[in-house]
Amino acid sequence: EHFIKRIDALDGKINSFITHTSETARAQAQAADEMRAQGDMRPLLGVPMAHKDIFCTQGVLTTCGSKMLHNFISPYDATIVTNIDNAGMISLGKLNMDEFAMGSDNSSSYYGSVQNPWNLEHVPGGSSGGSAAAVAAGFVPVATASDTGGSIRQPASFCGLTGIKPTYGRVSRFGMIAYASSLDQAGSVGRSAKDCAYLLQPMIGHDPRDATSIKYDMPDYVQDMNDAVAKAGDKPLAGLRIGVAKEYFGEGLNAEVNQLVRAALQQYETLGATIVEVNITDPEITLATYYMLAPAEASSNLSRFDGVRFGYRCENPTDLTDLYTRSRSEGFGPEVQRRILMGTYALSAGYFDAYYTKAQKIRRIIVKDFADAFANCDVIASPTVPTAAYKLSENLDSASMYLGDVYTIGVNLAGLPALSQPVGLTESGLPVGLQLIGQHWCESQLLTTAHLFQ
Ligand code: GLN
Repeated sequence: EHFIKRIDALDGKINSFITHTSETARAQAQAADEMRAQGDMRPLLGVPMAHKDIFCTQGVLTTCGSKMLHNFISPYDATIVTNIDNAGMISLGKLNMDEFAMGSDNSSSYYGSVQNPWNLEHVPGGSSGGSAAAVAAGFVPVATASDTGGSIRQPASFCGLTGIKPTYGRVSRFGMIAYASSLDQAGSVGRSAKDCAYLLQPMIGHDPRDATSIKYDMPDYVQDMNDAVAKAGDKPLAGLRIGVAKEYFGEGLNAEVNQLVRAALQQYETLGATIVEVNITDPEITLATYYMLAPAEASSNLSRFDGVRFGYRCENPTDLTDLYTRSRSEGFGPEVQRRILMGTYALSAGYFDAYYTKAQKIRRIIVKDFADAFANCDVIASPTVPTAAYKLSENLDSASMYLGDVYTIGVNLAGLPALSQPVGLTESGLPVGLQLIGQHWCESQLLTTAHLFQ
């Protein structure tokens, strides 16, 4: 009741929800109370949460922030939705997002922009802007989100939260509407590393319905954190080598962000960690590679939205071509259309080798550069974003917005886990995040490290 009342009273100002499921949630809460009374001790039983609207939810509107899916009631649940239900959590609804997860400030949503609870004139980040804003506004303790090039970490940074993108293959993508399949990964956003760990736990694991989900040892994130705290002396992070790459502190990094991140690194040293210098691929090259590959995959994934089987269909088509063309022109917003055009261009016969194949080759170099860096350190730290949240009225053009992804996208190209943790506020009172990047499968180390820092 507390959360539902808060959403009803305040979300008019934030716009973080696209769909509310308060009525079902009330019934589930009552059932959870009864189960608890009968001795059901599942730790997440009855805990409210909400899903980014990229996850299919059976019988509930699933829009992906697009007019294209304005009427799509999913006939099935995403695997993570089922898993979170099975853990006993209660979903309060579906959260706003950039259209098809393409964007960095939630301005591309068909359902309107989302306001940052720290300052309503500022953007909450994106594409998981609704997830971050809802947690920051106290509408839900935790939320699911997805990250193709930073969409969990960047909004977490802009909203003063922790957000984790796990290793590629750790969490099933079944029922998560695809943007760029080789980069997409679901994760959690919360007020602390521990809250993120609690929500991530039921999300992980092998799923036969996702061919890229991997069978691997199953950590217990919260247990690992508790063990680390129990063992911690006055230098709880002694032995941890934090890699710092000058490529992540280059031109375009805001001075206040730089200062807060450097101060946090000093704090890490005080806790016993050592800082070592490492090198990673030039972020400008990484940026170009991402903005070649992500749109290429998107153009292919989004071809399924043709106005025939589901979703938006134009009025009175004259023939099949007219039906395809107008349904897609009217159903997709400008940023999505731009990505489809970039992607089909990169994949077209005449340009395939020059752009797509070349980008795939550079992707291998990025993977190798990270592996080389990890030969000398355990985790890599950087600013999450070069700036704090900007004003919506700045109305950033697409190219400037892409630049803001410069520190987050390499992680997706390499399939690595990474989180963003809050490290302070700018003078104007806006949060700044530090990114911790781990080696494959090392989410637990990232979460524990961030937890010991807090
Ligand atoms: N901002 C990046 C993009 O628009 C990343 C989005 C994401 O991670 N979903 O592609």
